[in-house]
Amino acid sequence: LVSRKKKADDTVITINGEQIGAGDPSFIFGPCAVESQEQVMKVAEAIGGKGLKMIRGGAYKPRTSPYDFQGLGLDGLKMLKKAADQYKLAVVSEIVTPGHLEAALDYVDVVQVGARNMQNFELLKAVGQINKPVLLKRGMSATVDEFIHAAEYIIASGNENIILCERGIRTYEKATRNTLDISAVPILKQETHLPVFVDVTHSTGRRDLLLPAAKAAIAIGADGVMAEVHPDPAVALSDAQQQMDLGQFDEYYEALMKFMKQY
Ligand code: PEP
Ligand code: MN
Repeated sequence: LVSRKKKADDTVITINGEQIGAGDPSFIFGPCAVESQEQVMKVAEAIGGKGLKMIRGGAYKPRTSPYDFQGLGLDGLKMLKKAADQYKLAVVSEIVTPGHLEAALDYVDVVQVGARNMQNFELLKAVGQINKPVLLKRGMSATVDEFIHAAEYIIASGNENIILCERGIRTYEKATRNTLDISAVPILKQETHLPVFVDVTHSTGRRDLLLPAAKAAIAIGADGVMAEVHPDPAVALSDAQQQMDLGQFDEYYEALMKFMKQY
């Protein structure tokens, strides 16, 4: 059902008045994790000030170590929703288990399925039954074919509003946190009718690569870019080394807009 052969036209998903997949790139910015009301307010203000329509922030964080910050859960989603409402933004946030879904849907506009859960088939079936868009991230060791099949689980359960998100894969290369598989973007665009995003933060894991990676994503035909923004990355409870601060975010966005005008 996700195949181009089934549906030739691009799927366009409208989120908070913005059309995803209709041509112009969209952007999802926000902190790695929701940490406090003040933190998400500051980021929401910066995003809203640019006329953007979405904010991200994790409340359920799938961390490698059980001793690392696990997220604020439902309280975090409430904080994010409050900040989003103030600046008329849609909330994008990861849900890690079907059991959290119902309560979360009061606060979340786009449900993110994270890389670690790309093949959590019960979660895929559960988000297939909701009437909100799903941002499905590629598993860190998933082939393009496995990624497409994960999306198929969601659409087969009844939800065709799926955004695919390339977020880097695991290779032998250590210069970046993951290896951004940039050619996956046009392949996914050819093979499926779904919009495709690139998460430049988790793919590169390097602040200095966020801009060139986003330019590459847009140039190769991605429908949008995701990147992490935090008011004070040095004290962030997760992903401290790769989030942009608000000043860097301003410069970043300005540089991207300038780049896009060339097209
Ligand atoms: C995230 O976007 O918050 C995240 C944890 O990313 P990924 O699932 O791609 O690792
Ligand atoms: Mn992160």
